[in-house]
Amino acid sequence: MSATEAMPVVKFKTKPEHYHADACVVWCYDDRFYKLLKKFGKKQKFKNIDLVKVAGGAKALATADATEGSSSMAERDFVLSQIKTSVRLHAAKRIILMLHRDCGAYGGSKAFPDGGAEREQYAADLRAARDFVRKEVPAVLVDAYFADFDGLYAQE
Ligand SMILES: [Zn+2]
Repeated sequence: MSATEAMPVVKFKTKPEHYHADACVVWCYDDRFYKLLKKFGKKQKFKNIDLVKVAGGAKALATADATEGSSSMAERDFVLSQIKTSVRLHAAKRIILMLHRDCGAYGGSKAFPDGGAEREQYAADLRAARDFVRKEVPAVLVDAYFADFDGLYAQE
């Protein structure tokens, strides 16, 4: 039996047609917040998204003070290149950046003196990440969101 005749581990029809992405979404891989993303996508009527699912979500894009050649700079450039590739390959119409409560990439909620201080840190980082991406990808709309345990909030 040749490799092409082998039985698939999973039998499933994937549509081969290319698509335009309704959004490129940078989301933390914390699975507690995955259902929230699905719900948000449904509400936004997204048909196709390019999902950049990385630890910390938009955190990597907020490192304004990253020094040349540092690991945080490499991480930031990697996430940015994923966004730019989504725009180039799938003409992503929007870029959506996310941070969430109790994120392990920040040391969790316990790393902050209280919930308000934690929220303030995420707000500052979301703004920094959004400013950075807007500068790098000026042609595409960039929005930032904060995911909490009771819902998703647009970052002002
Ligand atoms: Zn996280």
